[in-house]
Amino acid sequence: MTSLPSSIDVAIIGAGAAGLGAAHALKDAGVDILLLEARDRVGGRGYTVQAAPDVIFDVGCGWLHSADRNSFVPIAEQLHFEINRDLPPWRERAFGKAFPQKDRDEFIHALDDFFERLREAAKAGIDQPADRYLEAGNRWNPMIDAISTYINGCELGEVSILDFDAYEDTNVNWRVRRGYGALLAAYGAPLPIAFNCNVTLIDHSGKRLRIETSQGTLAADKVIVTVPTNLIADEAIRFFPALPAKLDAAAGLPLGLADKVTLLLAEPEALPKEGNLRGATMRREMGTYHLRPFGQPCIEGYFGGRYAQALEDAGDGAIAAASIDEIVSFLGNDFRRKLTPLRESRWAHDPFARGSYSHALPGHAGDRVVLAAPVDGRLFFAGEATSPDFFTTAHGARDSGERAAKEVLAAMGKG
Ligand SMILES: Cc1cc2nc3c(=O)[nH]c(=O)nc-3n(C[C@H](O)[C@H](O)[C@H](O)COP(=O)(O)OP(=O)(O)OC[C@H]3O[C@@H](n4cnc5c(N)ncnc54)[C@H](O)[C@@H]3O)c2cc1C
Repeated sequence: MTSLPSSIDVAIIGAGAAGLGAAHALKDAGVDILLLEARDRVGGRGYTVQAAPDVIFDVGCGWLHSADRNSFVPIAEQLHFEINRDLPPWRERAFGKAFPQKDRDEFIHALDDFFERLREAAKAGIDQPADRYLEAGNRWNPMIDAISTYINGCELGEVSILDFDAYEDTNVNWRVRRGYGALLAAYGAPLPIAFNCNVTLIDHSGKRLRIETSQGTLAADKVIVTVPTNLIADEAIRFFPALPAKLDAAAGLPLGLADKVTLLLAEPEALPKEGNLRGATMRREMGTYHLRPFGQPCIEGYFGGRYAQALEDAGDGAIAAASIDEIVSFLGNDFRRKLTPLRESRWAHDPFARGSYSHALPGHAGDRVVLAAPVDGRLFFAGEATSPDFFTTAHGARDSGERAAKEVLAAMGKG
């Protein structure tokens, strides 16, 4: 815990993956830095909890996506975090009779065809909402939309095809056994951080920057802003003079919603380790379930988009209750007594996240570059939403922090 000094060379706002990436790069270059973090912990949307004595749960990010190009993989190795390279269960390892193999094959085929149409359409360089590329009358359309709510945090009508196409997925997805959030916490451990320090205003009208926080005011030469887009768009953090281009860009890149739940599973041997459970529900409003991740005695559920929002709005425990109902409908009544809610996320209601990950609204694929651009050689911007190709991810956030740190060093004549 670092207390607030009156002056610093570079202030970094937010100790999530982006802020930590920026801080490491600047610290290594010998620059005097301080991370200002509103929460009482490191990691932001990366957070691991011990949900039960034998259940580790990542409330936020869990997968090292594009793991063969993911900068957290070498960091995990350096910090002695065991990496699990098993394939994810999304496409394979289906369990139960709720989604018969024939239907499943048909669904995967329809999904792959849809993604192919999006890729083809994006080549023309004209932005469109992604739902235009659903095949009229295809019975799998609601479930393809449900997949969008997991990937994008929103339904396809709110997704820009050009932005979707810019994301680089190498289809290699690994995990860290002790949790992605725990990895972020270890990565952040050596850095100077002022916790419970909510930044409300960045005044860039004077010779030096003046940063107003819940812990007092701080002067700085440079600032790197890494807070989620919804906080910029809502002006939870303000700039003086105002920066309308940044507000517009942040509004074009809203955070969609994805929420997770973990349920303790009695008699776990009855279910396979690392299985996937979902139904041929033909609904947009559906969860997808990871059975016994890492062999743990639990089931993890994943929900997205408007359905996740409705469940969050229904209050604490609604996500767990909906998961149990759905799992019971797939596996039988006996499972009701076997499942106990342990923990669920409520990212939309989290005041320092206000959502899960960013997507570009149709027509706004260019906003990531606008949001990332420095202002006056003094204000710099990072965070997953500023990543050109790995947005929505923790490694994309980290790399964006490193990019902003290099811009700061160049502006200081140290580049
Ligand atoms: C349910 C869920 C599942 C996910 N799954 C994956 C996954 O499997 N793989 C993956 O790579 N990514 C995943 N993600 C996304 C990933 O977690 C994020 O993209 C990444 O953590 C964002 O990092 P960031 O530094 O940009 O933002 P954040 O982590 O949000 O960090 C910003 C920090 O700023 C702080 N802050 C906010 N406002 C202020 C203020 N006014 N003053 C001071 N501090 C402030 C916040 O508290 C936070 O610590 C998931 C996210 C969620 C929610």
